[in-house]
Amino acid sequence: MGLKDRLKRGLSRSRAALNEIFYMGGEVDDAFWDDLEDTLVMGDMGAEVAISVTDDLREQAARENLTRAGQLREALARRIASEFATAERDPFSDLPSVVLFVGINGAGKTTTVGKLANVARRAGTRTLIGGADTFRAAAIEQLDVWGQRSGVEVVTRTRGADPASVCYDVIERAEKDDAQLVLIDTAGRLHTSPELMRELEKVVKVTRKRSGMPVSVVLVIDATTGQNGLNQAKEFNDALDLDGVIVTKLDGTAKGGIAVQISHELALPILRVGVGEGVDDLQSFDALEFSRALVG
Ligand code: GDP
Repeated sequence: MGLKDRLKRGLSRSRAALNEIFYMGGEVDDAFWDDLEDTLVMGDMGAEVAISVTDDLREQAARENLTRAGQLREALARRIASEFATAERDPFSDLPSVVLFVGINGAGKTTTVGKLANVARRAGTRTLIGGADTFRAAAIEQLDVWGQRSGVEVVTRTRGADPASVCYDVIERAEKDDAQLVLIDTAGRLHTSPELMRELEKVVKVTRKRSGMPVSVVLVIDATTGQNGLNQAKEFNDALDLDGVIVTKLDGTAKGGIAVQISHELALPILRVGVGEGVDDLQSFDALEFSRALVG
């Protein structure tokens, strides 16, 4: 199954809900607009986005005399796509670049670093992985496995080492090796906490100060956490001034609307989407393609 199909299958829940209202009677009436708004809210898009999308589409339908629900599908996809913030720069292809990955445990940071390292190495980019998650011994081992799998060197230290010092080492090494892309995994916790944010603030500060290359901070978020994901994104963004977001696990039971909401509310671009656990299961993000997969 291709990556596109994987995303489409993953977003099947959102699509099934929308399909129901698109096919019910097929006639556009007040009940249709109410159902559409509710369905978008239920699909994790949030009330603000759901209302403005529905209102705009309703105006368009009146203006263009669209009376059958089926005629609105593409217009809906386009309207949803316009909610996404666009990226000014892609930190994985505009090189040189240092990227710090942040997010709570289990979001998919380490896996995403591994996938990106693999893509970069295959493209011939001189890549280095940094392991600044010194909180869990397993995290260091997991990162080493990804490094071996993708043929990219991992610079880290033992458990308990100061994460900001690890970043310092990583940048030093990157300069020595003339690396073009540096991907640094950081520690998460089960939830956001003041202690985690303080640690990450220091990590970002030291990395920015030490690095001659542009440094981006990218949040990795698990789409299956729904509205909770939005709250996490806000907390990380408030503390660290994020540059973008990677949404993972869109192959599963996630509703997908959370990507729209996070990107719109925090004005942050979605840089990639994760659609599986394998090394190739990372997709570039295209707002319209994503929205079409959401709408059906
Ligand atoms: P971290 O704690 O943020 O570093 O998260 P990990 O990278 O260890 O990932 C946590 C779990 O989520 C692992 O079992 C991964 O295989 C899984 N995972 C990561 N990304 C995806 C994805 O896009 N889809 C699916 N289905 N699983 C994923």
